[in-house]
Amino acid sequence: MAVSKTHPPGAVREAFAAGQRHFGENYVQEALAKMDALAGLPVTWHFIGALQGNKAKAVAARFDWVHGVDRERIAELLSRHRPAGLAPLEVCVEVNISREATKGGVAPGEALALARRVAALPGLRFRGLMGMASPSGEPARLRAEFAVLRRELEAIRAAGLAADTLSMGMSHDWREALAEGATMLRIGTAIFGARGGHAWRPAGAVGEAA
Ligand SMILES: *Cc1c(COP(=O)(O)O)cnc(C)c1O
Repeated sequence: MAVSKTHPPGAVREAFAAGQRHFGENYVQEALAKMDALAGLPVTWHFIGALQGNKAKAVAARFDWVHGVDRERIAELLSRHRPAGLAPLEVCVEVNISREATKGGVAPGEALALARRVAALPGLRFRGLMGMASPSGEPARLRAEFAVLRRELEAIRAAGLAADTLSMGMSHDWREALAEGATMLRIGTAIFGARGGHAWRPAGAVGEAA
């Protein structure tokens, strides 16, 4: 997945022309404006940011995947607001593998319960787990954290739930993630270059802060 947050629609178009189909966005308002600017381009859109309840309706209507589900309440809102004419929203449950208090995600031992809940909701399809490793971790620590996510997914499968996605690995740690079984890397900087501090917004629009 190419993480296009803060980058303009032209960057998405360019990557699409090179064969990239999956794109990730963190900020709802920025993403919706970008989708409008790219209307007609058959992109698969992934929401990878922290999701607030008041944005769940827009995310359920416009995205194909959501990677950061870590509360039953958000899962219920996404399911309820998924338009009936669309396929179920593809969902990964986020697990806090770095154990940083500031990060989202359920504790590793709680992933199965939330996965079961997601799998039972009609507007959602449970696909797997998402995690972010410590930003400054040594390779051995990164591998250990990614291994926690892999083992959680194995436990969920052993409990009888279908799941095929391990969403882990970013520009600085994708090698360790891949070595631990990642099936979907979320790469921003290494594809699009460094990000400025602000979300992209169409000319004349009032945007949200990145
Ligand atoms: C921004 C972001 C990425 C991409 O990070 P890079 O370091 O630019 O590759 C991946 N995952 C999440 C959840 C992000 O917010």
